[in-house]
Amino acid sequence: MPECVGHKSNGASWKQKSTSSATLGAKKHAELSVMDELDAENPVLLIQDAFPCSECHATLLTKSAKKKIIVKVEKDEGKYSMDHAIALGGRLSLPVTIYYSGGVATYIQSVAPNPAVPVAFNGVPGFANLSYY
Ligand SMILES: [Zn+2]
Repeated sequence: MPECVGHKSNGASWKQKSTSSATLGAKKHAELSVMDELDAENPVLLIQDAFPCSECHATLLTKSAKKKIIVKVEKDEGKYSMDHAIALGGRLSLPVTIYYSGGVATYIQSVAPNPAVPVAFNGVPGFANLSYY
């Protein structure tokens, strides 16, 4: 069951703020529901067990014009990795972290080679140990 845990930052660390599940009969996918609840927050960290689908991905790209958004994907529920196949370069090694900023998505996988974390995220707290549902 696709789930998303949203976090806001206090500048030094992340604090769990909102959760959503795609199985609650929502018309929206979990990540967009969480984004609505975190709308005033920047940056935003979403930890979820599925990749954003193509529709959610497009929305996150748009929102990233004004907000730094990090999506840590820990599992591939729903197989939405197919929507990111080109960006993933034909390899999939979870977790995958997607950095959305300025309308661009940068993918970091758990195997090298990877692009650098975008400069826009300098000073944003780390989140390696944040993992809970
Ligand atoms: Zn979606």
